[in-house]
Amino acid sequence: MTSILPSTQAQFEITPAHRAEMELAARYACEGPRYTSYPTAPQFRQDFPLDQYLAWQQRDGDHKRAPLSLYLHLPFCKDICYYCACNKVVTRQKGVARQYLDRLHKEIEQQSQLVGKQRPITQMHWGGGTPTYLDDAEITELMHMLASHFRLLDREYREYSIEIDPRTVEAATIALLKGVGFNRISLGVQDFDPVVQRSVNRIQPYEMVADLVANIRSHHFRSLSFDLIYGLPHQSHHTMAETLRKVNSLRPDRIACYNYAHLPQRFSSQRAIDRLTLPAPEEKLLMQQMISHTLQDAGYLHIGMDHYVLPDDELALALAEGRLQRNFQGYSLHMADDLLGLGVSSISQIGDFYLQNERDVESYYRHIDSGKLPFTRGCMVTSEDKLRRHIIMSLISDLRLDIGDCNRQFGIDFSAKFPEELAALGPMVRDGLLEINEREITVTRRGRPFLRNICMPFDAYLTAHRGDQPPPRFSATI
Ligand code: SF4
Repeated sequence: MTSILPSTQAQFEITPAHRAEMELAARYACEGPRYTSYPTAPQFRQDFPLDQYLAWQQRDGDHKRAPLSLYLHLPFCKDICYYCACNKVVTRQKGVARQYLDRLHKEIEQQSQLVGKQRPITQMHWGGGTPTYLDDAEITELMHMLASHFRLLDREYREYSIEIDPRTVEAATIALLKGVGFNRISLGVQDFDPVVQRSVNRIQPYEMVADLVANIRSHHFRSLSFDLIYGLPHQSHHTMAETLRKVNSLRPDRIACYNYAHLPQRFSSQRAIDRLTLPAPEEKLLMQQMISHTLQDAGYLHIGMDHYVLPDDELALALAEGRLQRNFQGYSLHMADDLLGLGVSSISQIGDFYLQNERDVESYYRHIDSGKLPFTRGCMVTSEDKLRRHIIMSLISDLRLDIGDCNRQFGIDFSAKFPEELAALGPMVRDGLLEINEREITVTRRGRPFLRNICMPFDAYLTAHRGDQPPPRFSATI
């Protein structure tokens, strides 16, 4: 059994500067999109122009040869985690993976035909649900299906990643994942505190994760990343200090820290969480501060909103070279313009289109069985959307916007085009969250926790939602 905990660690002290940052956060707290796309998913509609997408795909052009990213959604989980907001099916019924793989195979045939089979797959991610719900034979079969219909790469620079649930993966499966071509692994850790783990129905002791990490390291994966969540029941800055100490002892290359959004009306599993056990907003802000300061003190670089990476990680280099992007999987290297999502509920971003697959498994099966593509919602991006997407994605990834470059690329005069947006940013400038001059907008170190707030004035749909529909609900920005 692995035991590598360091015995001492500097204590996190709450200074007046931290208090000031927390007061600021309380002032800016509101609901807002995470901007994994723009337009954001609530803007996707059933009556999107699918015929135009199909016609564009029929034409030859660079888009039939350009690199492509793949995302595969594998929705099954053996147990429910109460905080979960993913599209998943909790089941232990035998044969469900078989039924799903059969449909996925048909979708892979259809979609590869449409997007082009020769496009190099520079990035691939299997998410869920729990991808390791599949057994070793099924994982091998699925990778074989993909290799038969797409041009998978064996080059070192490829980024093929898979999410792993430490509770369900067998030790021998790690070797198999390496063998079938994955070079990155992402572990759902969330929190190491036993009380927190019990309260969200996800029990995975530190020793279990540490053994798994040792196994992953022994197979020389390029990168190991942890997902953490703050804002869970029974969490406090005391429990978080201990979790961070344990995380740091395992030294993952990347750490993504997500803010738990308690939306029990939308996500039924969250109804099992007693609201009274959730940390108070000030405690949550304190945890956010603590995560940021502790991980940076431990040598991690803060990337974008919520990612921390070791300085030699490719994401750190990508940030320095302006090759960082934000998409449905969070932050990643920009290696391909198009992302094809496969499987129930997955979203594709291809050319001028966002396309989302049917979100219900049984309906997804019916679409596939009747020979139809499973897209049921989407949107075509307008030139105005592209401009606003460029601004939002620059700010949220690079923490700056080059105004001159934006003017040249889109043929605009920034200050004449966005007077209201610039006025809305005024209070944030006065609070020291960003700096604006005629050449650029720069997010300051102080402004980083407020990236979603900083982007929101440029989101034309936030105020102009359709009058016959209620405004979309988003999670808290801070
Ligand atoms: S958090 Fe992950 S493992 Fe847990 S129920 Fe949701 S998708 Fe499944």
